[in-house]
Amino acid sequence: MNINISELYQELIIDHGTQPRNYHAMSDANYTAEGFNPLCGDKIKLYLLIEHDIVNKASFEGAGCAISTASASIMTEMLVGKTKQEALDLFTDFKKLITTGDDTCTNLGKLLALASVKNFPSRIKCATLSWHTLDSAIKNKEAIASTEEF
Ligand code: ZN
Repeated sequence: MNINISELYQELIIDHGTQPRNYHAMSDANYTAEGFNPLCGDKIKLYLLIEHDIVNKASFEGAGCAISTASASIMTEMLVGKTKQEALDLFTDFKKLITTGDDTCTNLGKLLALASVKNFPSRIKCATLSWHTLDSAIKNKEAIASTEEF
């Protein structure tokens, strides 16, 4: 990785960490979940509006370190337009990126800015908190939905 790319990535994390996108509650959200990373103290509440299996809106609130905030901000930007399964697949690819450094998945986009977190194992949970919260929002909602079906 050349120095200009890593500077660019660092700026992207600072930008999203200090001026997070989609940072607000959402009154019409139909999927929500809260996440907590006790190792660092990061907290997040995630709001999703999913219609016809497509994420139409994503937002979050919370308090956390720059890594967790930047990761949540970038995630909410990237989720819009994805199906629930595509969102969960992106989490799988992102987890692979920051635990193994495998950046061959072509859909990672701005998430590549967080690749260097791999070198700081104690911060991996900061970067994945919003994604774990996404996972539980999507799966818990499905669990409730199937209970109502029967
Ligand atoms: Zn953190």
